[in-house]
Amino acid sequence: MKKTLILLLLVSFCGGSEESLPSSVDEKTQTVQEEFAEEENQVLEESKLVKEDSVNSIFWGATDAKPEVYAASDVSQATIDITVEWVDKAIGYWGNYGPLEIWIVGSGRDEVISLDEKWCEVRSEKDPTWNKEWDCANGDPYGSGNGWSPFYRYIDDGGAAVSSYIRDYLGYYFNALVMSAKYPGPEEDDYKKVVLHEYFHVYQHANLSIPSTDTDGDWRTSNRNVYFNGDEVQVPFLMEGGAEYMAQYWYSKEPGIDPGYLKQEMEYKAQTISTYLNDGRSLRELGYNESFQSYDVLTWFVAYLVHTTSEETFRVDFWTQIEDLGFEEAFKSNFGKSADEMIAEFDVWVSQPVEVLLEIIP
Ligand SMILES: [Zn+2]
Repeated sequence: MKKTLILLLLVSFCGGSEESLPSSVDEKTQTVQEEFAEEENQVLEESKLVKEDSVNSIFWGATDAKPEVYAASDVSQATIDITVEWVDKAIGYWGNYGPLEIWIVGSGRDEVISLDEKWCEVRSEKDPTWNKEWDCANGDPYGSGNGWSPFYRYIDDGGAAVSSYIRDYLGYYFNALVMSAKYPGPEEDDYKKVVLHEYFHVYQHANLSIPSTDTDGDWRTSNRNVYFNGDEVQVPFLMEGGAEYMAQYWYSKEPGIDPGYLKQEMEYKAQTISTYLNDGRSLRELGYNESFQSYDVLTWFVAYLVHTTSEETFRVDFWTQIEDLGFEEAFKSNFGKSADEMIAEFDVWVSQPVEVLLEIIP
């Protein structure tokens, strides 16, 4: 029985990496996956009693593996290339974290349905415990809308996202970075910044190795939010403010980008500030679907944190200490005061004319 299980695992990991997709898996990825398969075997061989330890041994974090790319068949090679190019830039800026899968959705419905099927195939190969009934496409999401698939909403809604599958019931952890054909489309400059933004989410998640235990089945109330936001409610706060500021800041330093680019971008984002101040709620309470562009103000908050400390303090020190210290302590030790105190200080500062605010933008 045990041997069968081990064999199955080996077959599934090797099988998964052999069957490469459009631009996909390179040799390094295969090596790491095979090593990972070996690790898994060892745990299984040792004893069934170490089940809890085996959960912790599932790979997550810094890696030298290249991300795997899965693209719908109507996605052009040029789109795949530009996506990979900017993920590689992000890896160059911030480090390589994974396992990372890049899924690129096109605009054709049949092609996206095939990508849904590929998703299920890859999932089942990598994780024999994957729940095919609920975590593969099900129902009729494209027709009646009554159902779900990992990619159906991108055809109409466009956009991009990172989903981090580090959950206590999974046998394989991974990040899925999803890009689509619009809002922004791959021909727009914004597409590059969105790739950077999404990869920063991968970086953020990589720094917390505690699997999510969303006991009520809702990822928005996962235990991981306590680390990320100081509260067990999913709010954009430093996740989105951090991803957006880092994407814009690092993009602005790329060769050929106008030296005034970041100031222009931040001036544009400053338009939301007065609405935020009139709203009266704290930055850390704003949800994902506010009537105004809450991300803009969150980005300004991170610009302010970086200004009062340094880019490295925010990006490296703060994010890498969250797991050990917890959110509030990591915040305080890096920025010198509590998050609430800092928000109060920010609210006063950000009420000044935009010309004054822009002085802190490099
Ligand atoms: Zn985001």
